[in-house]
Amino acid sequence: MSILVQSGKSKTAEDEKLVVNISGRRFETWQNTLEKYPDTLLGSNERDFFYEEDTKEYFFDRDPDIFRHILNYYRTGKLHFPKNECLMQFDEELAFFGIMPDVIGDCCYEDYRDRKRENAERLMDDKLDEEENADGVVAQTVRERMWRAFETPHTSTPALVFYYVTGFFIAVSVMANVVETVSCGQERMKSKLATINA
Ligand SMILES: [Zn+2]
Repeated sequence: MSILVQSGKSKTAEDEKLVVNISGRRFETWQNTLEKYPDTLLGSNERDFFYEEDTKEYFFDRDPDIFRHILNYYRTGKLHFPKNECLMQFDEELAFFGIMPDVIGDCCYEDYRDRKRENAERLMDDKLDEEENADGVVAQTVRERMWRAFETPHTSTPALVFYYVTGFFIAVSVMANVVETVSCGQERMKSKLATINA
């Protein structure tokens, strides 16, 4: 029923068939289909910048494989995430055509979000690795290494061992001091008592 209504609407006099050429692959669609989303590049008159008079086509030097999914969004109102495509490239194409990623359908949104998170984590790891390598180059001298070991003991095993050994001896010396004063005090008391008794 709704399909019949839609196709009937598409063939009204004010609607016009448009040809969108994406790097040589031609897509045909109705103007009304594109104008469903006036905030996007294809839905607004911004697309006129890409119109070529001689061919009567809108030409975009973009990825035709991803564009198929973008055009489907105009047709169905649902954007599906192509799992075999690179996430960054998909994002770039969406950004170019002015489509927000939050219009991705529920069926694909979880996949998209997971891929996005994986990507962010991988970028973060790469960045950390780079920073560690950079640190390794900087910490060449013995003095710098020693300073690093004392300042941040958790960065290497010897530094950590040194940290705990030092801590142990500090604790022992404090304990020894305490024990010493206690026994001295008792002896003094005894000697004081002895002098008083005498
Ligand atoms: Zn989907």
